[in-house]
Amino acid sequence: MNLILLGPPGAGKGTQAKRLVQRLGIPQISTGDMLRAAVKAGNALGQRVKGIMEGGELVPDDVVIALFKERASQPDAREGFILDGFPRTVGQAQELGKILEEEGGQIDHVLSIDVPVENLVTRLSGRRTCRACQAMCHVETSPPRRPGRCDQCDGELYQRADDNEETIRERLRVYKQQTEPLITYYGKEEILRRIPGSGSVEEIFKTISSVIGNGKAGG
Ligand code: AMP
Repeated sequence: MNLILLGPPGAGKGTQAKRLVQRLGIPQISTGDMLRAAVKAGNALGQRVKGIMEGGELVPDDVVIALFKERASQPDAREGFILDGFPRTVGQAQELGKILEEEGGQIDHVLSIDVPVENLVTRLSGRRTCRACQAMCHVETSPPRRPGRCDQCDGELYQRADDNEETIRERLRVYKQQTEPLITYYGKEEILRRIPGSGSVEEIFKTISSVIGNGKAGG
């Protein structure tokens, strides 16, 4: 099964993706995580995208499409994948459609997690991410048991370079302009479902689970 999680930054795509990995046994493909890993490694790709990411802008389509292709071709993705943060433009969605079609595959569900914009700045500015396992928490709404340490693996929590207010506002602007049109794009293909994203992680996961059913295509 191939799933896309759509939604603005801070909607909870990464959190839900990790739960879906547990449930479905297929990998999460997060272009954001892959790009951050490249920045951390300081390789040529990382050097190219660091400034773009810190400014809250989108990395060029050809770069993220190449990352997706490489990751999706690995053996653990043979039964499908959960896309988190990709596609983010209509161009990326068209290219993804072509790649899947060539292999006789398809997107089974596009889940758009809807959260009012005014909640997103608070969500993102308090967000902390684990350096080791990428789990997320929030300093006010879901604080870690030990300050600065991840509840899941005790790794170090850090604040992403783009989770500051100025960059958050730019990311939200970019989302509205370049990514939100995907709701219409996938709406036309009739595989889109809108998921209210304001409840608890558990409630949202329940809604998603009922939409994807038993995990089989069309279920
Ligand atoms: P994320 O972790 O998904 O919020 O992504 C963090 C940043 O990585 C974004 O603000 C972009 O700069 C870049 N990025 C991640 N995925 C994509 C994508 N599909 N297209 C373009 N840029 C991306």
